[in-house]
Amino acid sequence: MRTRRPLIAGNWKMFKTCAEAVEAASRLVDLSSDANHTDIMIAPTFTSLALVSEKIAGSNVGLGAQNLFWESQGAFTGEISAQMLVSAGCRYVIIGHSERRQLFGETDESVNKKINAAIQSELIPVMCIGETESQRDADKTFSVLDKQVQMGLEGFSSGDLGSLVIAYEPVWAIGTGKTATSNQAQEVHRFLRSLIEKKFDKNLAESIRILYGGSVKPGNVAELMSMPDIDGALVGGASLDPEVFSKIIHF
Ligand code: PEP
Repeated sequence: MRTRRPLIAGNWKMFKTCAEAVEAASRLVDLSSDANHTDIMIAPTFTSLALVSEKIAGSNVGLGAQNLFWESQGAFTGEISAQMLVSAGCRYVIIGHSERRQLFGETDESVNKKINAAIQSELIPVMCIGETESQRDADKTFSVLDKQVQMGLEGFSSGDLGSLVIAYEPVWAIGTGKTATSNQAQEVHRFLRSLIEKKFDKNLAESIRILYGGSVKPGNVAELMSMPDIDGALVGGASLDPEVFSKIIHF
């Protein structure tokens, strides 16, 4: 029996105008109204957040952002704070996505500060971690993940991290159509849970939700979700079409 409530999260990346985002969100609300078995999150672009928030109000779809900056306000052109996300209706924020790490220079130190800012504003942080293909080939998967977890969560107590969600997203599986096998993913999720137990405590290790991300689709979600340590999915491409995403939600 599942002890942790699943979370199926959609990362819309840099797709959809305001009108397209509102239309997709509205359709998703209809399609997921019977999905009481899981939490649901969508993360549109910043420009659509407030509009989508109005559309999904009162539904079982929660709103997330794709990033934030750790300062609360100030001369930081182009950045958005945690409080601003809350004021736009967000409950969740994705932090340290591999595209941000690879394309925008995000580091484990910045991830750490962003998680802190999210927690201070009572946003649920979805911390993304994952190894590249060459790191996996060089047998460094566990050491890479260990470092990302140690540094990303440095300085927190287990009490701080009650809402934290971890998304394990092997970089080689994002947007590539390659998915980790359910056994590969389970092995890593088990490792992450034991890492959390060592760094914090058993309670947090048992309650923390660990999502899998990387080419999740309607055809592979059920098998991934049958694994004991996989508590949900972070979905990119397949979250853009509400009909397809709804099939994933109804795993
Ligand atoms: C993602 O962007 O987090 C992701 C997992 O993308 P995709 O599902 O397209 O591989």
